[in-house]
Amino acid sequence: MKKTTGMNRSVTQAWGPATRAVRGGTWRSEHGETSEALFLSSGYSYDDAGTVAARFTGEAAGMTYSRLQNPTVAMLEERIALMEGAEACRTQASGMAAMTAALLCQLSAGDHVVAARAGFGSCRWLVDSLLPRFGIETTVIDSAVDSEWDAAIRPNTKVFFFETPANPTLDVVDMQYVCDLARAHGIVTVVDNAFASPALQRPLNFGADVVAYSATKLMDGQGRVLAGAVCGSAAFINDVLLPFQRNTGPNLSPFNAWVVLKGLETLDLRARAQSAAAIELGRAIEQRIAPAGGRMLHPGLPSHPRHELAIRQMPRGTGPIFAFEVPGGRTQAFALLDALELIDISNNIGDARSLMCHPASTTHAGLSDDARAEMGVTEGLLRINVGLEDVADLVRDVDAAMSAAGL
Ligand SMILES: *Cc1c(COP(=O)(O)O)cnc(C)c1O
Repeated sequence: MKKTTGMNRSVTQAWGPATRAVRGGTWRSEHGETSEALFLSSGYSYDDAGTVAARFTGEAAGMTYSRLQNPTVAMLEERIALMEGAEACRTQASGMAAMTAALLCQLSAGDHVVAARAGFGSCRWLVDSLLPRFGIETTVIDSAVDSEWDAAIRPNTKVFFFETPANPTLDVVDMQYVCDLARAHGIVTVVDNAFASPALQRPLNFGADVVAYSATKLMDGQGRVLAGAVCGSAAFINDVLLPFQRNTGPNLSPFNAWVVLKGLETLDLRARAQSAAAIELGRAIEQRIAPAGGRMLHPGLPSHPRHELAIRQMPRGTGPIFAFEVPGGRTQAFALLDALELIDISNNIGDARSLMCHPASTTHAGLSDDARAEMGVTEGLLRINVGLEDVADLVRDVDAAMSAAGL
């Protein structure tokens, strides 16, 4: 295998985001294939016993077992690290495997975690149910209120964990403020950047320590595979995450890594086009629901309480996802969904297809009524992922569905 890009860090560091996403981390075999090779191999064989012994002690470079290293997976990890501006990256089998690994690898009984209350349902389950079972205390706060972060800090606070923009209410966290605060107290910030992807937002630039992904979303971008990634300093990835990951095995399969590599080639284009379409569709929906007493939750629109901050943190686009609340509760939300002709009813996001869902009955159905109410996941809330279709067709579809739902 010959490394074709990334040989010279000073060259790759100067690349723009689109170049990084197409070229980063490419290795080529002796065949000189242009597209990355797919190495579906769980193990490796060696020329002699001394070679393998040297690899196991770490004296010689080289792969030993696919739970530890795989060439296709390594290409993806190098590419994501380059896109993120991180020293290192390791991938996992899903976004939730990435979140679980990013938290458990560094937490012990007696530690305390402060987490954003607005978040992906399974991320909230980690914080509310899993961590406390292992003696890790957790506090959930309104992540969009800066002073709540200060107030929640205890002497044993080890990690701040949040998403921005957050699922499904699109809350925006002031990353520079929260990460500076964390650093001043020796707290590690873990940012779930799934809604943005490195094409739109790079949390490390705002002082974050660890960035975790569901690569299932914008990185694959075509609704095909589950994947996750964790990025951070070489010290964090190699000394903290890797011992956990190598021995617990939440690894990404080489096939899924290869699919995500193909997805990344178009990430920059997709993320910007879908962001622009989400602004257009968001404006059209807001014009209709605002007079009817509905509510728009879209970081790219001036009506969002942290619009200026969102643009500062995501200057290339605020992402394909937004939410809106219809005044007529679940009945009206379901009527709107059922009247859609083009947009699919689906709880996935980041796909090239436009998808709409009702979070209260799907992604956030597992939470208690109180937790949902506190997060602002109301019965009238709908979340949309805007895809790559013609925006005019999307506007027409939603317009007709809103009329059918009595809006
Ligand atoms: C989808 C998602 C996850 C979980 O990712 P999977 O790949 O489905 O395991 C975590 N966080 C956020 C914000 C997500 O959107």
